[in-house]
Amino acid sequence: STPTTPDDPTAAASEPVSNTDRATLDAARRRRTFAIISHPDAGKTTLTEKLLLYGGAVQEAGAVRSKGRGRDVTSDWMELERRRGISVTSTALHFSVGDVTFNLLDTPGHRDFSEDTLRVLSAADSAVMLLDGAKGVEPQTLRLFEVAKARNIPLLTLINKYDRPGLDPLHLLDHIEETLDLKPTPVTWPVGIPGDFRGVIDLRTGAFHRFERVAGGSKVVPTTILTPEEAAESEGDAWTTAMEEVELLQAIGAEHDHEAFLAGRTTPVFFGSAVSNFGVGLLLEALMELAPPPSAHVDLEGGHRPLTSPFSGFVFKIQANSDPRHRDRVAFIRICSGHFERGMKVMNARTGKPFTMSYAHEVFAQERAALEEAWPGDVIGVVNALDLTIGDTLYASEPVVYPPIPSLAPELFAFARNADTGRTKQFRKGLQQLDEEGVVHLLTRVNGDPTPVLGGVGQLQFDVAQERMATEFGAAIRLEPTPYTTARRTDEGGEAALRHHSQAEVLVRTDGTRLAVFQSPFVLQFFQERNPDVLLDTMLTR
Ligand code: GDP
Repeated sequence: STPTTPDDPTAAASEPVSNTDRATLDAARRRRTFAIISHPDAGKTTLTEKLLLYGGAVQEAGAVRSKGRGRDVTSDWMELERRRGISVTSTALHFSVGDVTFNLLDTPGHRDFSEDTLRVLSAADSAVMLLDGAKGVEPQTLRLFEVAKARNIPLLTLINKYDRPGLDPLHLLDHIEETLDLKPTPVTWPVGIPGDFRGVIDLRTGAFHRFERVAGGSKVVPTTILTPEEAAESEGDAWTTAMEEVELLQAIGAEHDHEAFLAGRTTPVFFGSAVSNFGVGLLLEALMELAPPPSAHVDLEGGHRPLTSPFSGFVFKIQANSDPRHRDRVAFIRICSGHFERGMKVMNARTGKPFTMSYAHEVFAQERAALEEAWPGDVIGVVNALDLTIGDTLYASEPVVYPPIPSLAPELFAFARNADTGRTKQFRKGLQQLDEEGVVHLLTRVNGDPTPVLGGVGQLQFDVAQERMATEFGAAIRLEPTPYTTARRTDEGGEAALRHHSQAEVLVRTDGTRLAVFQSPFVLQFFQERNPDVLLDTMLTR
């Protein structure tokens, strides 16, 4: 055995490292597990395709773009899979550049599925915040940013669509700082104004990367790189202006600070045009160089589980019926420590029951061979994992429990009525399952009325629940409005205090969490002022 390397913070300095440990640390060091957060239309699908193109996972990008509007990312990726013969799903894309392996986790763009995004971000080590250069921070970006911020996820920022008229770059930096309280530290700087975009200066080297408009950008485009002298010559006034701005940036001290970035206080900023492939290579390089690899995951007690501990991971997403040929339920697990091998026996920390991951696979690997093993940072899918629910921790030999996954306090509530009283069993089972998958929150009233209440943050969640109840469980439901619009997590004390309230009540989720629901924010505020000691928390977990 050999002593640990001094720069490995995850293993005690004096402990010897086995070959398996060495392999685990090496695999973890080479992994980047990240997500893209953006507002719809900022270019996430385009960027995803280009990352795959530049990552060598596809030879040509763009073919899936011809379907027009109304498509969604899931079907794009499935289409991509079909056409290219590579394995992708809407949950994670797995590709390698050099010796770095990327796991790109998909975040649903629609606001109504923000809860899904929250869960996905709990499995990511970093994220790319993608902004439209003409629009800056949009509502959904802000919402997702807040989620990322709550977890201190390091963010890289790509300002996209710079080939088009848009906002002045200094203005954009101010805007990011003011809106997000996040300090932007440009790594590249645009030359030319939006609409007359000439390219970017790589602030680390001073080199000029010339923008070339490409039609479609379906192939990798070699970038012309000029020295500052050459760029000054070819770009004239545009170069002079950019250099003045760069001086200003240096004067205000906006350079990359790695520690502040890792703590989620600053964000390295890149400018590009995903549709023209411009800036995609630089972003990939930045993900390799700056984005953090997996590190010791924090457990429920606040301890750090070393990467080299036996296998552990947590379920962050459950997807039902991803394969239309047969009903299935795939649980997606983010690996936090150890080496995963197919067929291994693990324990479910919640149920205390053993679980054999015989059907487990890394669903998204390009090569089937990769299905046999996985490492920290990877995402594996377990098929027909009926015993698993969101937030479950799985471990081998050395017990660990990871913290529950945060969820958003529901804002919409509906009574779910069984439309066919002959289907009571299916009705109960269906709702239970939708709750476990995180489609909606299943809630029970404490006032004795047995009608279940569904909670969520967006109408689409209810639409999905209603559709799946009818088609999958054969138990059609009628949804009826409730008067409630605002919820807070509370406890027994809150339940007692609200017992006879006429405009609020307490609902209990399947896991015992109590939710105080109010007919308006005003009712909540009024109650809060009169009951300052009652627990009313906005943070929920799954
Ligand atoms: P998503 O909704 O975030 O996934 O956005 P899409 O990738 O579908 O892009 C939305 C629209 O913006 C599409 O028409 C894209 O062709 C276009 N788009 C994406 N990136 C760029 C870019 O860099 N420049 C320009 N001009 N258009 C872009």
